[in-house]
Amino acid sequence: MAIVQSEALVLRSFRLGETSLIVSLFTREFGLLRCVAKGARGSKSRFGASLEPGVRVNAVVYRKLSRDLQLLSKTDIVEVLPALWEDPYRFAVATQVLEFLERAAYGESGDPELLDLACETLRTMSRAPIASLELIVRGFEIQACERLGYAPELTVCLECRSPLHQGGLFHPIRGGLLCGTCGGGEGSFRLSERARRVMVGLSEEPIPTLAGWAAERYPGIEVAKAVERFLAAHLERFDGLRASRVAESLGQYKG
Ligand SMILES: [Zn+2]
Repeated sequence: MAIVQSEALVLRSFRLGETSLIVSLFTREFGLLRCVAKGARGSKSRFGASLEPGVRVNAVVYRKLSRDLQLLSKTDIVEVLPALWEDPYRFAVATQVLEFLERAAYGESGDPELLDLACETLRTMSRAPIASLELIVRGFEIQACERLGYAPELTVCLECRSPLHQGGLFHPIRGGLLCGTCGGGEGSFRLSERARRVMVGLSEEPIPTLAGWAAERYPGIEVAKAVERFLAAHLERFDGLRASRVAESLGQYKG
């Protein structure tokens, strides 16, 4: 057993017994760690409010490689974004980022850039206009897929490699767009040129910039369909993020 220290983002926690919590942490050095936080729900818990989803902490963990559940010893808050909790829709969209990490991250090595991308996304979400939260989360999902090594192909045809200027046929399993000549085949659907360009922008722009995009001209339905089906085809254990369905049903109350 080794005592390790790492910066981490709290993804989720749930009850264990009378007073403890099981906490999922996305750590800078060790990737995803599931930990037991003993006594975390007691009134004198040494963890305080540090184990809420979306809080960035410095965590000290007793880590044993052969164990699935590690023992959390101590956490210090590095960053907390209260605005994320003040609006239920904002919180639901932020939870999509955390769920993405829990489902997509695996292995025992960290991905510091993915952690930084997630933290930057949450920070942007905490102050962005409500109307742009949806496009920010899509930008995060596309950029996070790039970090994980399976970016969708959006600029040239997957088959003949010719540049795309008039939209294309999106094939979630093949991982991107095909031109009209090659044809998309079964399981593909048409993506307009506007949606294609927006997705290229989402994949390239720094996340904070997305908060300034004109949300009223954002082709949300098309982009959501392409990104969600792409994630379903490429992320292990992805069956439609639960939080995205919550955000969708809360969306009607936003603004
Ligand atoms: Zn082609």
